[in-house]
Amino acid sequence: MLAVARRVLLTVALKVALTVALTVALTVALPVTLPVALLAAGTESGVSASGTQPAAASDAERWCAVATRPANRYLDVEADSVFCQHIAWLAEAGITEGRADGSFGPGDLVRRGQLAAFLHRAAGRPEVPGPPGVADEHQDDHDPTVPVFVDVSADHVFADAIGWLAATGVTTGRVDATFGPDEPVTRGQVAALLYRSAGRPAHPVAVADDLPSFVDVPADHVFAEAVTWLAASGITVGRDDGRFWPSARLTRGQMAALLWRADQLEQHGSVPTEDELDPSAFDPVVEPDPPPPLAGRLIAIDPGHNGGNFDAPHVISRPVDAGGFTKPCNTTGAVAADGYRESRFNFEVALTLRDELERLGAEVALTRTDDLGVGPCIDVRGRFGGEVDADLLLSIHADGAPARAHGFHVIRPGPGRVADPSVVAPSGRLAVAVRDALVDAGFRPANYLGTNGLVVREDLATLNLSTVPVVLLEAGNLGNPEEAARLRDRAVQRELATALAAAVSRHLEAEG
Ligand SMILES: [Zn+2]
Repeated sequence: MLAVARRVLLTVALKVALTVALTVALTVALPVTLPVALLAAGTESGVSASGTQPAAASDAERWCAVATRPANRYLDVEADSVFCQHIAWLAEAGITEGRADGSFGPGDLVRRGQLAAFLHRAAGRPEVPGPPGVADEHQDDHDPTVPVFVDVSADHVFADAIGWLAATGVTTGRVDATFGPDEPVTRGQVAALLYRSAGRPAHPVAVADDLPSFVDVPADHVFAEAVTWLAASGITVGRDDGRFWPSARLTRGQMAALLWRADQLEQHGSVPTEDELDPSAFDPVVEPDPPPPLAGRLIAIDPGHNGGNFDAPHVISRPVDAGGFTKPCNTTGAVAADGYRESRFNFEVALTLRDELERLGAEVALTRTDDLGVGPCIDVRGRFGGEVDADLLLSIHADGAPARAHGFHVIRPGPGRVADPSVVAPSGRLAVAVRDALVDAGFRPANYLGTNGLVVREDLATLNLSTVPVVLLEAGNLGNPEEAARLRDRAVQRELATALAAAVSRHLEAEG
């Protein structure tokens, strides 16, 4: 039923288009071969390449403008566009009226609702058999086999078209009972809708043994049947990269070309091969991936202490500025009962965190790049974030408290001795973000100090000397044998790093 209605309309439309084009062409004294060649061969670019056709852009421009009637209606459809003739046909066939501002928008993406309207008009705007398959309060006599879309009300601008698509089984909508009229349509979806509106035809016999295939549309792909038909019929052509790009978006210009080809197939049983040959007509519109959440960020990580500190007591005992007072350059850090060292834990977590942050798009700077050296001193660590112009500084430690103590705490700077008072407030927010992320990941706040895992200290050089927001994490207590065993577990370290990266990401997003 569909195919018949559509064929009748398109036959009429094409006759009108042919008549108008030829008449106008003769009237303006263009070479008689031009409109015929254009209608047969399709694209202007293909015509220009031929020596028998006029090369002057003005002739083609005039033809396209005239055929698009009234002249210059679509000011944004260039004469040398590969879609000029397709869009002209679309207008002549009454499938599009363009826009109120006189543009067509050939480069704009096709929305699902618009595609429904295109197909509905191409079929001659048939009445919906029965109530529209859209959300309506008067659904008493609604055919239960026709889907109702919760996001398409009866007064939606495309309600008739979408309702018709649903009533005729061309679309079933989506599993959540929506149609998504404002969402861009994909190439795979277009293939499916064209295939179904054509009545799910069998593949042409001539190519049955040699059906085209695309590496990104395997045989079990949801649109495999439709895409294969589309390609075998010549409505679309394979691209040099061997892909169909089923998830790519489609422009209105490309849509015009597809509908024109579908019509050619219906009218003549084939698509003019010359028209197929311009692959630029089907450049997939691939929307770039959104930037990763931490793109453009630089995160400074300070793995506390260093493995070589144990052998360099004279170096690390040197007093350094800690924020208006002095402290030893560094210390060895805690050691678990089984000999597992805090410096190693800090470094292992720091490397895992670095990988996770880089995966999220951040750059990472470390205050030390191995666990064999000595230092750096705590004043250098504190100033490090500012030195490298980081967004924030995260210092990683584990505690060496009595065995009954367990849990993590996040230390932030107090206002008393900081080099830059403006970092106090954002450091507090960063501390909360880290605490929340660790709790979410199942880590328990310390049972022996602080409040809900949060501590303020004014005696730590790493915090006092930082000119970027900073927190110091004591991830747990190595003095507790059970907790020490957990902390050296690589799986636990990965969970910790993942939680820290999430905290950094959320914090920076919130800070803007
Ligand atoms: Zn430490």
